[in-house]
Amino acid sequence: MKVHVLRFGHRKKRDIRVTSHCALVARALGAERIIIDGDKDDKAEKTLKGVNERFGQGIKVEQKAWKKTLKEYKNKGWKIAHLTMYGETLAKAMPAVRKEKRILVFVGAEKVPGEVYKIADWNIGIGNQPHSEIAALAIFLHELFEGKELERKFPKAKVEIIPCQKGKNVRQLQKSKGKS
Ligand code: SAM
Repeated sequence: MKVHVLRFGHRKKRDIRVTSHCALVARALGAERIIIDGDKDDKAEKTLKGVNERFGQGIKVEQKAWKKTLKEYKNKGWKIAHLTMYGETLAKAMPAVRKEKRILVFVGAEKVPGEVYKIADWNIGIGNQPHSEIAALAIFLHELFEGKELERKFPKAKVEIIPCQKGKNVRQLQKSKGKS
């Protein structure tokens, strides 16, 4: 299954960490691309480029307006899953979502326009309390892939982390200029 994420309404002044964390979560939990709508800002793209180079190729980042993106994806037959606390339950929506081959996950920042609720194939609440786009995205992807996303390998990594009970075990796979 192909999963892309559309991060709506990035505000350069206040959202850089949250948007970067959405991108990191998308990468770590199995999405192939994140599209960032809102203010022009290259920071998330730079952060993810560094992470991809060091820990393996995992996600592409691009900046594009949300309306254009939704239109393009809809026209290509992708299904849209909008994460919102007002939506139907995850448990109810997930069986139908899992049957699809291409999912665009829409997460907000500022107030999401009413139009999005209509365009979306599913409006899904990760619980019906307000929390965060990072948490909502992580739980959605984890449920969608049923935990298998955590075993994914990232090609062309310079380092590999070997799981261990205490301390840090990092294996160098290629020459790396960065920190460990
Ligand atoms: N006030 C905004 C609105 O009314 O659309 C939402 C702000 S919230 C901090 C930012 C984003 O987090 C939302 O657009 C949604 O994607 C996600 N989110 C927050 N709580 C959620 C929940 N319980 N279920 C699903 N998504 C949630």
